Amino acid sequence: MLAVVTLAVGAPTLAASPMPDRLPGGGTSVAPGAPGTAPLPIDPPVVTPAPVTAPAVAPAPPGPPAPGLRLGARGSDVRALQRRLRVRGIRVPVNGTYGRVTRAGVRILQRRMGLEATGIANAALLGRLGVRIRAVASAPPPPPSAVTATYLKAFPVVGDYSYSDDFGAPRGQGPHQGNDIMGQMGMPLVACVDATISRLTRTESGLGGIWIWFVDAQGNEYYYAHMESISPELRAGSQVTTGQVVGTMGMTGDARGTTPHLHFEIRPSGGGSINPFSDLRAVDPRK
Ligand SMILES: [Zn+2]
Repeated sequence: MLAVVTLAVGAPTLAASPMPDRLPGGGTSVAPGAPGTAPLPIDPPVVTPAPVTAPAVAPAPPGPPAPGLRLGARGSDVRALQRRLRVRGIRVPVNGTYGRVTRAGVRILQRRMGLEATGIANAALLGRLGVRIRAVASAPPPPPSAVTATYLKAFPVVGDYSYSDDFGAPRGQGPHQGNDIMGQMGMPLVACVDATISRLTRTESGLGGIWIWFVDAQGNEYYYAHMESISPELRAGSQVTTGQVVGTMGMTGDARGTTPHLHFEIRPSGGGSINPFSDLRAVDPRK
């Protein structure tokens, strides 16, 4: 009797990647919006993306809670912290709940103060803000993500956003070359990696409107389009660090008149776009 062993074959068939669109030239001298160099196929989303749902969660190893306030904390101390953030122009709700927006606000403050952007208001930070901890009902820290990002170190949008796996979706200019992250006008956009700004425009140019191209130390490129504004200190050649605010969400370019969103792309080694969805999920603090 002959046993027939069938080896598992058939690696999952990769969905055909859309042809990478033309890249704008390699240098910074490319005139924005010049024919043939417009940075990319952007376009208004045609459907409301489904909200990203959380994956099954592995049990979280309880970490030793450090003193201070962190995600999940509630109470009057959190409310006091939120008031201090607002006084400093950081828009967070004053509701006594240390949610993701409050955590993002703490990170912004930490960066301003030259501190590590942990998103945890530790005793030292609270002391500098004049917040005295009384009673803290602190929830355990969120479970670590089971998925790791290949490229991204931080989610590019801070606030109440939504997105879906819309890479390759049919759009007017061809298959969608990135993911659209939907939000509100003026929401902070932050650097998703440590990078150098290779090109940007503050006046609307091409389909992307107001946009920035970043390049990291490995030569990978990241594209933010349809922005409302770019932080005034930034210019081509500026170095940005992960989490640094680089501008605000808008709907410039061919997104005008649609829903405010960030059109986001990753181009490994400056080549064709890849689907950024799994990387976005991996660094999404809200998932
Ligand atoms: Zn888009």
